[in-house]
Amino acid sequence: MSIPGQDLATLVDRCERQGVTVTAQRRAVLENLSGREDHPTADEVHLEVTRSIAGVSRATVYRTLETLVERGLMVRVLHPGASTRYDLKVHRHHHLVCDVCGSVADLVEPGLDALPIELPADRSHPSGFQIRDYSVSVRGVCGHCSATRSDG
Ligand SMILES: [Zn+2]
Ligand SMILES: [Zn+2]
Repeated sequence: MSIPGQDLATLVDRCERQGVTVTAQRRAVLENLSGREDHPTADEVHLEVTRSIAGVSRATVYRTLETLVERGLMVRVLHPGASTRYDLKVHRHHHLVCDVCGSVADLVEPGLDALPIELPADRSHPSGFQIRDYSVSVRGVCGHCSATRSDG
């Protein structure tokens, strides 16, 4: 159930070191996150958290997730036309995105981690854009969706 580096104790410890007070509600959110690798939306986390601790509002879950992002403990995964998803893996990695169900899975491909991106210092980047990070999204149909579609 727990994922290396993402167990509840480690997450709580990281939050406290970042000055994030771990309330009972935030702890429930962290506990939910620690067991999943599916890049949940705020709604998905909220749905599961309310099963274990009553009375947690969606706004509280959303604010907790955003606080974790602000403190560098999580990143947002954004794809055009899809809900914002959250990812505890803050190091550079890539994603497989299903066009049918919108699921997001991690893609470990070392060849994508060090792309030789050279920004020309010309009119296309007049403001001196500095690359901070990047992530490659590979779009397609996930195994689950291709299995359920193949009968049609
Ligand atoms: Zn799918
Ligand atoms: Zn990811």
